[in-house]
Amino acid sequence: MITIAKPEVGDEEIRAVNEVLKSGMLAQGPKVAELEKAWAEYCGTKHALAVNSGTAAIHAALFAAGVQPGDEVITTPFSFIATINPIIMLGAKPVLVDIDKATFNIDATKIEAVITKKTKAIMPVHLYGQPADVSAIKDLAEKHDLKIIEDACQAIGSEYRGKKAGNLGSLGCFSLYATKNIMCGEGGMITTNDDEQAKLIRQFRQHGMSGSYQYEHLGYNYRLTDLQAAIAVEQLKKVDRFNKARQENARFFNEELKDVRGIITPKVHANRTHVYHQYTIIIEDTCNVTRDELAKNLKDKGVIAGVYYPQPLHHIEHIAKRTGYRVGDFPNTEDLAKRVISLPVHPGITPEDRQKITEIIKNMICN
Ligand SMILES: *Cc1c(COP(=O)(O)O)cnc(C)c1O
Repeated sequence: MITIAKPEVGDEEIRAVNEVLKSGMLAQGPKVAELEKAWAEYCGTKHALAVNSGTAAIHAALFAAGVQPGDEVITTPFSFIATINPIIMLGAKPVLVDIDKATFNIDATKIEAVITKKTKAIMPVHLYGQPADVSAIKDLAEKHDLKIIEDACQAIGSEYRGKKAGNLGSLGCFSLYATKNIMCGEGGMITTNDDEQAKLIRQFRQHGMSGSYQYEHLGYNYRLTDLQAAIAVEQLKKVDRFNKARQENARFFNEELKDVRGIITPKVHANRTHVYHQYTIIIEDTCNVTRDELAKNLKDKGVIAGVYYPQPLHHIEHIAKRTGYRVGDFPNTEDLAKRVISLPVHPGITPEDRQKITEIIKNMICN
């Protein structure tokens, strides 16, 4: 069986966890501090703060950006639910903008039309591991005095004009969930260059605490444990190697699938690097199989492909109720939700595996 994701755990991670277990300090402590320092260095930011999920990271970043009840945050309907849930958790409104079909990311040319007096932030998602159109978004953010919060949960290590994801806006959010490019089971990180925002996040993850039993704001228990941080520290040392393996697998798929009728392979746009959290192809009408037929055939032959995401966020009933969006509002997202399929691209894929995957696809489509 070739799975869509596989955590890469080595002896280093096991040793590091054992050391924490023996130390007796299991909750947030020196390992979290070590992770935060290494993460900030890697991303090129002044601060990195650890929390216990990517969702918590987005929640904390929105809080630090000053998002309050009644505010609006602009983002994309073609993402994981955790992109928009934290906006709603703060009593703010997700304002959605359709995607650019070529990149799967928010279409920056459509953002200005939805900016209002209530808009507080723009949250691009670097979907599948390729940065969104950050310079266009930056121009808008400066013009309208908005914060940019990157949902970089799928994009650790990717770059835009030579700068790392997480250092492209006001705040960057990452996930260390088990299926991400690097992981520690569950975990999250927030990057920022702003001291005040870093302070707010430290408070937010610890019940809003500003001093010894002094509580400045509403807060949560969003702390990461040293057990998890120990894994993440080792994973971060390997991130460039893992991403390179993904890029190499992607290069192979691009080459093998480029002439297959009805398949569009992913494009990397100018000034960006892609870390292929997912390798996602589009099945066009000219293809003689549907996306779902292809997924089923792969599965029958032992290859688990993924569909990210089969349902646009505005089609989810309770989200539609809260936001007022309807089916038909974001045609690019709705079309691609029916056509995308992601092939296993993780570093655990062997050359034989990737050969097998492309052969199944070519045999099915070309015969
Ligand atoms: C994984 C992910 C999240 C949430 O991260 P968790 O660690 O699972 O809470 C948010 N946004 C995107 C785009 C993700 O891929």
